[in-house]
Amino acid sequence: MNRRTVLKHLAAIPLLPRLWPDLSTLAQNPLPSKPSLRRVRSSDPSWPSPASWEKLKQKVGGQLIAVQFPLAACQSASDSASCQDILNNLKNPYYVGDQPGLTQTLGWADAWVTKPSVYAVAARDANDIAAAVNFARENNLRLVVKGGGHSYQGTSNAPDSLLIWTRHMDDITMHPAFVPQGCGATHAPQPAVTLGAGVIWMHAYDAVTTKGGGYVQGGGCTTVGVAGLIQSGGFGSFSKHYGLAAAGLLEAEVVTADGKIRIANACTNPDLFWALKGGGGGSFGAVSKVTLRVRELATSFGAVVLNIKAASDDAYRRLLRQFVSFYREQLFNDHWGEQAHIKPDNSLSINMLFHGMDSEQATKLWKPFLDWVAQSPRVYTLKSPPIIVSGPARHLWDVDYMKEHHPGSLVPDFRPGARSSDAWWAGDGDQVAQFLYGYESQWLPASLLESDSQERLTNALFASSRHWQVGLHFNKGLAGAPADAIDAARDTATNPAVLDAFALAIIAAGEGHAYPGIRGHEPDVAAAREQAAAVAQAMDELRKIVPHAASYVSESNFFEPSWQQSFWGSNYARLQTVKAKYDPEGLFFVHHGVGSEDWSDDGFTRLNGG
Ligand SMILES: Cc1cc2nc3c(=O)[nH]c(=O)nc-3n(C[C@H](O)[C@H](O)[C@H](O)COP(=O)(O)OP(=O)(O)OC[C@H]3O[C@@H](n4cnc5c(N)ncnc54)[C@H](O)[C@@H]3O)c2cc1C
Repeated sequence: MNRRTVLKHLAAIPLLPRLWPDLSTLAQNPLPSKPSLRRVRSSDPSWPSPASWEKLKQKVGGQLIAVQFPLAACQSASDSASCQDILNNLKNPYYVGDQPGLTQTLGWADAWVTKPSVYAVAARDANDIAAAVNFARENNLRLVVKGGGHSYQGTSNAPDSLLIWTRHMDDITMHPAFVPQGCGATHAPQPAVTLGAGVIWMHAYDAVTTKGGGYVQGGGCTTVGVAGLIQSGGFGSFSKHYGLAAAGLLEAEVVTADGKIRIANACTNPDLFWALKGGGGGSFGAVSKVTLRVRELATSFGAVVLNIKAASDDAYRRLLRQFVSFYREQLFNDHWGEQAHIKPDNSLSINMLFHGMDSEQATKLWKPFLDWVAQSPRVYTLKSPPIIVSGPARHLWDVDYMKEHHPGSLVPDFRPGARSSDAWWAGDGDQVAQFLYGYESQWLPASLLESDSQERLTNALFASSRHWQVGLHFNKGLAGAPADAIDAARDTATNPAVLDAFALAIIAAGEGHAYPGIRGHEPDVAAAREQAAAVAQAMDELRKIVPHAASYVSESNFFEPSWQQSFWGSNYARLQTVKAKYDPEGLFFVHHGVGSEDWSDDGFTRLNGG
């Protein structure tokens, strides 16, 4: 399964045993146990009456909607024109994002399939969100929050739930000199941007970079939601330089479980502020807006695309060894991000982005590696001519410019009336409405790049690639980043393993749009299980060389056994304390979110002692 940005990107992942103790047992919620509780389902007599729903509708200015499930048209008649139209639209992440009843991943074999909520509050502001939060709490409902809808883990959908849908909260305000509320005495004014909870990264980049000439650290995929990405840590192509997206959060407005609209920043509710920076989406409250740092934009960004195939296993191992050493010498710094893919067919595909140099400098830098490859023409073949390009950083997300200079790299929203600045990277297209088979990630510590460890790393990568394709996402590990980026990341809830990792390894498998009950588009369960096992075996090979495995919460295994330790490491106990303070009754539940161990897998039943 592929994913790319300007060029290509990949992604992949697995599951498996733990090499560390399960700290979830060490960091138990200190609160006394509560009686068991079951949230209300739509079939229950205590489900709110039509009159109650009507009252909520009035409170939110008519913004309460009964959620439709677009795929229902395909389940009843897959050959119908309306179904074909929907299937065609499923290639478009903007269409998917506009449906309160859909998510960008349609499901995951043996884990979850997307299900619509019964009702959604299509929120316009924090007051609408507060009304939804109060209604859900008072009526004992399962509450869900959805922004961009990109959760791989299915945490932004649930049947029998009330959805807070932020899609239309898309205001963007630039600030030349922002000071977080209450921080006048301690914080110097700085450029910033305030983004409504429904803003997606493409809209943020359009405002901040294309129009504003600045830089905001966000995600690679253009249709990912700002609020969801920030709360999970968040990496973009240039995170090796600018750091974690969460570390750029200056202030959030958030509705907590008690229905209060709170400001969270370094000076006001600092504990909540810290938890929102990487503690996981949908766990601490519903964020209504975020204000992020705006940074100086680099003059140029560039890309390197290489595809090298080795003639034998031995030659491939030598190629990997050479690349590991070349990476350590030349690329292990804040100029280089994005990915390399190590594939079972003995090919190495490199899709990396750089900043702070031009294509001439980049060409010179890559010359020794390309010369080494060229020395053995019978052993190594370049599957396509190498591409090394650079261009003005300001135009990276400028759809008109990219259309003219790099046609095909961005795919426009093809619906009539769509904004001309709405587009997604061609390489991300494979992931729209995908159905996952397996997905795992693991941070690889920079110590593996030391000369006496490079052989071990090479062997593990080779062994892993015998099972499944391995993606190394260099921008998703902060080793090699500037000290201020690392310090800022240390002050987030993200697993500290990110600080010393040179890359995040991702291994994943899945298929294009598939959903149970749609004839011709049923998920292939047998293939799913087989490929999930291969993904797991591939990740196992990497686990052998990583003493304390840790995984990026947003891009991780649904079945992760010791998820508390894996996603948050030593930060988990502190996150539990924040959860207990702001959401003691567990109104905000997501699969493998902070505090979710107190609930059944579907979030409907509080377990005894929870
Ligand atoms: C195709 C694809 C590409 C991706 N690329 C990247 C990438 O480049 N870098 C990266 O770091 N990650 C990436 N991810 C992972 C992505 O960043 C996370 O899944 C992120 O949480 C998605 O946010 P969202 O709003 O789009 O998704 P949603 O599914 O809407 O939300 C994700 C989680 O956040 C919660 N949430 C959303 N909005 C709010 C809110 N306002 N208040 C409280 N909780 C909220 C939801 O309840 C859910 O639990 C990618 C995922 C996909 C599917």
